[in-house]
Amino acid sequence: MKKHNFYAGPSILPEFTKEKTAEAVMNFAGTGLSVMEVSHRSKEFVAVMDEAVALVKELLKVPEGYSVLFLQGGASLQFLMAPYNLMDKKAAYLNTGAWSKKAIKEAKFFGEVVEVASSADANFNYIPKQFEVPADASYLHYTSNNTIFGTKVDAPEVSLPLVADMSSDIFSRPVDVAKYDLIYAGAQKNLGPSGATLVIVKDEALGKIDRPIPTMLDYRTHIGSESMFNTPSTLPVFASLQTLRWLKELGGVEAIEKVNIEKAGMLYDEIDRNKLFASTVPNKEDRSLMNVTFVMAPGYEEAEKEFLDFATARGMVGIKGHRSVGGFRASIYNAMPVDSVKALIETMQEFEKTK
Ligand SMILES: *Cc1c(COP(=O)(O)O)cnc(C)c1O
Repeated sequence: MKKHNFYAGPSILPEFTKEKTAEAVMNFAGTGLSVMEVSHRSKEFVAVMDEAVALVKELLKVPEGYSVLFLQGGASLQFLMAPYNLMDKKAAYLNTGAWSKKAIKEAKFFGEVVEVASSADANFNYIPKQFEVPADASYLHYTSNNTIFGTKVDAPEVSLPLVADMSSDIFSRPVDVAKYDLIYAGAQKNLGPSGATLVIVKDEALGKIDRPIPTMLDYRTHIGSESMFNTPSTLPVFASLQTLRWLKELGGVEAIEKVNIEKAGMLYDEIDRNKLFASTVPNKEDRSLMNVTFVMAPGYEEAEKEFLDFATARGMVGIKGHRSVGGFRASIYNAMPVDSVKALIETMQEFEKTK
C-alpha cells in the first residue's frame, strides 16, 4: 500500500533528493567513496557546500551583504545564538506558540525580553496583529510558521530589523530577506534530513554588541570559514543541495507557493465542508500552508481514534495531532504531492459516509 507521509518533522523529502542521496551514499561524485566518508575539505565536498549556498541565495533572492551558513544544533541552538550575537540590552518577541516560547526563554539569558503580543489566551489559534514594539529593542523575533498550532505569520511591518525562525516554512513562499538581520531554519521540515541548520545573517548586524561570544557560537567564526570551522554535517548538506536543485527545477519559491496554496486550500475546504471535522484556526488568513491542524467537530469527538485507525489503514502516516492541540495535523510541506493531499481528502469523505 502506498504510504502518504504527513509527519511534521523530520518529514517528507522529494523522491529526487532520496534517489540522489542514495546514489552518493554508495559513490559520491565519481570518487568511488561514500559522501559520508570523504573529507569535508575535498574539492568534491567543497563544491557541494558552494552550490548549496549559491542556490539558497538564488532561490530566496538574498541581497548582497548577507551570509548563508549551514550549521548544526538545530533551530533550538539558534534560539540562543540569535540573542547572543544580536541583542544589545533588549529584544522584542512575538509569542505565537511553543517554538516562540522556547526562543523567548533562551533570549532571557542575554537581556530584557519584551513580549510584544501573545496568543496564549486562545491556545495559540490566531496571530496577534496589533502590537507596539519598543524602539530601543535590537530586533523583533517571530516564528513564521507555527508547526504545532497550524498558523502562519506574515512579516510584521515594524521599524526594527526582523529575526525569524522559518524552520517549517522556509522555501514555501517568497521572503523579503532585506527586512531581516537573521533567518534560521532546521533542515528537517522543508530542506533535508535533520542535522543541518540553515542560517542567513546580515553581516553588518554582527559585531555591534560588547559581550564576548564563545567561538562556536559566534556567527563570524562560521562566516570566516564558509561553514567549515569544524566538520559540517556533510550528508544532510548534500541532501539539502538535492532539494534545492529540485526546487529550482520546479520554478523556485514562487512556483511552489502556488502549489502550496492549492494543496492547503483543498484540504481546508474539505475540513470546512465535512460535518465530522473542524479547523482549529478560525481566521482563514492565519492558517498555515504547511501544517493543517483539525479536530473532530462538536458531537463527533468520540470518533477521533476511529478516524485515526481508518486513515492509517488507508496509508496515511503521521496525522496524529500534537498533544498540545489534539486531533489531527497533516503536514504538507513542499515535497508533499498533491495526490497525497487528495488521498487524505478522499479518506475524510469516505469516513463521513460511515457516520
Ligand atoms: C521543528 C521546529 C523547531 C525545532 O527545530 P530543531 O532543529 O529540532 O531544534 C523550531 N522551530 C520550529 C518552527 C520548528 O518547526
